[in-house]
Amino acid sequence: MTNDRGGAFSRLPPKPDHPGLEVEVLERWERDGTFDRLRELNRNGPTWSFIDGPVTANKVLGVHTAWGRTLKDVFQRYKALGGFNQRYQNGFDCQGLWIEVGVERELGLNSKREIESYGLAEFARKCRDKVVWSARELTRGCKRLGQWMDWGNDYFTFSDTNIEYIWRFLKLIHERGWLYTGNRSTEWCPRCGTSMSQHELSQGDVYRDKTDPSIYVRLPLRERAGESLVIWTTTPWTLPANVAAAVKPDAEYILREDGTWVARARYPHARAVKTVLGSELVGLTYQGPFDHLPPAARDHHRVIPWDEVSLEEGTGIVHIAPGAGTEDFELAKVHDLPVLVPVDEAGRFYDDYGWLHGLGTVESADQIVADLADRGRLEAAEEIVHRYPHCWRCQTPLIFRVVDDWFIAVDELRPRLLEANAAVTWTPDYMGKRMDDWLRNMGDWNISRRRYFGLPLPLYPCSCGHLNVIGSKRELEERAAGGLDQLEELHRPWIDAVTIRCEACGEEVHRIPEVGDVWLDAGIVPFSTLGWQNPAWIKGGYATGASKGLSNADLPDHAYWETWFPADWVSEMREQVRLWFYSQLFMSVALTGMAPFREVLGYEKMLDEDGH
Ligand SMILES: [Zn+2]
Ligand SMILES: [Zn+2]
Repeated sequence: MTNDRGGAFSRLPPKPDHPGLEVEVLERWERDGTFDRLRELNRNGPTWSFIDGPVTANKVLGVHTAWGRTLKDVFQRYKALGGFNQRYQNGFDCQGLWIEVGVERELGLNSKREIESYGLAEFARKCRDKVVWSARELTRGCKRLGQWMDWGNDYFTFSDTNIEYIWRFLKLIHERGWLYTGNRSTEWCPRCGTSMSQHELSQGDVYRDKTDPSIYVRLPLRERAGESLVIWTTTPWTLPANVAAAVKPDAEYILREDGTWVARARYPHARAVKTVLGSELVGLTYQGPFDHLPPAARDHHRVIPWDEVSLEEGTGIVHIAPGAGTEDFELAKVHDLPVLVPVDEAGRFYDDYGWLHGLGTVESADQIVADLADRGRLEAAEEIVHRYPHCWRCQTPLIFRVVDDWFIAVDELRPRLLEANAAVTWTPDYMGKRMDDWLRNMGDWNISRRRYFGLPLPLYPCSCGHLNVIGSKRELEERAAGGLDQLEELHRPWIDAVTIRCEACGEEVHRIPEVGDVWLDAGIVPFSTLGWQNPAWIKGGYATGASKGLSNADLPDHAYWETWFPADWVSEMREQVRLWFYSQLFMSVALTGMAPFREVLGYEKMLDEDGH
């Protein structure tokens, strides 16, 4: 028993002050150098390698990050109790759309044109400032949380070193013949002015309910006076790019009393004047919905067969606009259809679209519908609520555009990725199966983004047909034809001013303006932070370019990489299966044939009371 005064225990307050207690513990750790002593104690112990996924440095510490950090801390502490030697390196993700969009908002810029007139150098500086501010805030929050990390020796993905490692990876990909430029129909954010990759679309929140127009349009058949096809669309802006109408060859189509053709399955109770198979309609031509606009008038619209035509929605006759839809684009290749791209990077109609010029895809809808109605082409106009993809960064509804993007072909690597993943222990189990599923089904990796503050893709295509790919800063310096003196760091606009000599013909060539997918930045981390293939240890050698002055991180040598690669354990939230876990796995299997981690713990996202 204790008494009130002078016993073995001092009296506790009736209401414990938890925050006060935490601060007291943190102060004691600080005063006693507890963490440093622990590291010293375990210095010669067996290694346990954990690689921290970089946290995006554009915010203060949120609940979902704190939750993940707590799990990481618990695992590291547990292993420390077992005497394991650990690295404890923290990482920050510092470039790409995440950072740019936040800075744009703060500066009140709302288009790429506005960023360009603001100035790319100043914009890059503002992006860096944002990262510096956020890294400080995140560090403060994590320390307060009690997380033990090697603060001050953090890695920043916008360092020249990280960028150079990705360059090296891309050069190797090119040497293997996997890098190509593809003319593709791709999901496109008209506000950000860039395409999206498949894995960006796989993030939570991308597909959300959206109310759209649902319109039925009559297309008069040229060969059959008084008869029209009826097509259905929820994207009126794609109608001026229509070049074909697709029918299901083995489905029944009916001519209704009002002279319109539709699929029998969609209108089972309609009175049919005539019934034919879809194949009998194939080859007929029709008047396009906007033949009076110059781009459309150049084309002859015709009916094509397509087995994939859905009899579950619409009229069973599908509007085909190859410049504004993925399947449409594929059909254009099969049937040799023209590809009309009606809108520019900002989702606005090009000048040759007459009265539509300058209108956006959303604001043009009403005028397009009204115009169709005026010309007697509108069968019906309704509204529909459906699942629709939105930009994961700015929430703008995405559109499809046909553009030239840079891709990494995945087919050759696919079996090796599957094999490598089979050796990984996933907790929970099903997340490993999700990865497997993704690896089996993923398309080629779209790596280019038409943005500003991001990884500069080191691609210098020459008019002679040769593609020059630069693999390091030293190679850039050796091959430069000009602009080196102003190269502050490997970012736009400075990197754009450096030209090189084509290795095939000696001509002076420019870099492509595109930057890279952010998942390249995070995926290279198991190589760039551990010193893969680096001949000698460089003190402070990771803190280069934009990360100069922000970190004291070393660039270790290859022996260090051998010791710490692959990671024994990594842990992030579930959606990272197709993001960081994937990009790391991809880059690692390409570079070494091995998975970069032995065990993965995936967890669900935790949100605060406001849903953030
Ligand atoms: Zn966007
Ligand atoms: Zn050349």
